[in-house]
Amino acid sequence: MNSSAKLEVSRMSADMSSLLASVQQHASKWFAALEKRPVRAMLSGDELRKTLGGPLPQKGIAAEKIAEILADAGMRGTLALAGPRYFGFVIGGTLPAAVAADWLVSAWDQNSGLYVMSPLVCAIEQIAGSWLKEIVGLPSKMSFGFTTGCQMANFTALAAARHRVLRDAGWDVEANGLFGAPPIEVLVSDEAHYTILMALRLLGLGASRVRRIPTDNQGRMRADGLATALGESKGPCIVCAQAGNVNTGAFDPIEKIAEVAKERGAWLHVDGAFGLWAAASCEKAGLVRGVEKADSIATDAHKWINVPYDCGVVFCADEAAHRSAMSLAAVYIVATGSERDPHEFVPEESRRARAVPVYAALRSLGRNGFAEIVERNCRQARRFAEALQDAGYEVLNDVVLNQVLVSFGTPEQTQRTIAAIQEDGTCWCGGTVWQGRTAMRISVSNWSTTDADVEKSIEAMVRVARKHVT
Ligand SMILES: *Cc1c(COP(=O)(O)O)cnc(C)c1O
Repeated sequence: MNSSAKLEVSRMSADMSSLLASVQQHASKWFAALEKRPVRAMLSGDELRKTLGGPLPQKGIAAEKIAEILADAGMRGTLALAGPRYFGFVIGGTLPAAVAADWLVSAWDQNSGLYVMSPLVCAIEQIAGSWLKEIVGLPSKMSFGFTTGCQMANFTALAAARHRVLRDAGWDVEANGLFGAPPIEVLVSDEAHYTILMALRLLGLGASRVRRIPTDNQGRMRADGLATALGESKGPCIVCAQAGNVNTGAFDPIEKIAEVAKERGAWLHVDGAFGLWAAASCEKAGLVRGVEKADSIATDAHKWINVPYDCGVVFCADEAAHRSAMSLAAVYIVATGSERDPHEFVPEESRRARAVPVYAALRSLGRNGFAEIVERNCRQARRFAEALQDAGYEVLNDVVLNQVLVSFGTPEQTQRTIAAIQEDGTCWCGGTVWQGRTAMRISVSNWSTTDADVEKSIEAMVRVARKHVT
């Protein structure tokens, strides 16, 4: 380091407080704009690359200036994903308490892999983990881990499953891999989320060698089909069920599935990325009944719990299997005895303190506040369905949760209408194909969506559709 570079370092630290004050202004402006701005992005990739890119500059510039450049680009280059009228994908927003906590997480720069590096974050992770279990009514002894998202939660859960079913067959998969191992039967529904297949692929279990169980007209796994397949299966066996279909919001009959899987001695995994949180609501909890009997569960906090990216959670009934699948002791990692080391439950080693925003979100809402969000979003989804039906459009699913599938007529009419709704900018919805029908998908999962936002969005959808469906 030469002397001018050294000077830079001291200047950079001195400027921290004014820098953070300016960033606070930028962020406040961004949040304030969410309500009024078009939901779609206003700049293209080309425009953004032109503004922000070019060759790496030889010399750096002040952090405050960079924040200003990013904030300007952010006002127009982002979609208002965190805003109240984004209904594309199941995505949630960011609760104020969670954003604030996330800023502290960045300031603290804690590595939450090991207790010795961050007692605070490890303690908060334990509290957040047990609060999440309480919401769902999961056994308090279930182990848990905070992953980047539900993709990695599915991966972690299925790694634990792979460990256990092979260990029961006398095979150590962590030591010996899958070469020569007894084959594992993996049963998934026709409607399994693609992240389940990706997880199986990463684990060497193959995305295509699974046995697919048929589903009903809402996308629910047929328990009788599963029972038949289990009857025909041999050896180590994993069943993947789903709580909350990404198109219809429908739930597999988990209680019945748990019963037949248990009888057969199969490991039951449940993907409940957003649907698991139906458990928070007395009205909706029946949909996930039986989930507490699962061997593993994967979910997201960055969806319905409304924390910033990225945050998924995995729960496991067999702590030893969970730990065996994920931990690998290194000589310089000295176990702290009674304290929990978070890295033992997730694939990542060094890791952001992603449980802290979850703690903040739940602490700010309380049990009742979170239930209110889930119930409100479900009621809003029903309102979308009723209003669009009244306007003469077809709703393709039973609206049991927060998902609505709408057809505006032919596939072309529906696609044209979706594109025009996105362009209009009042709200944003994406397209999907449900059982051969092209549809617009409305997902309601943002804490800040008011009934007025829903009415405003319905008005825009109907106005745009009238123009494009001729
Ligand atoms: C979103 C989703 C996932 C994947 O979650 P990520 O957080 O995007 O990794 C998995 N399963 C279901 C049912 C989902 O809705």
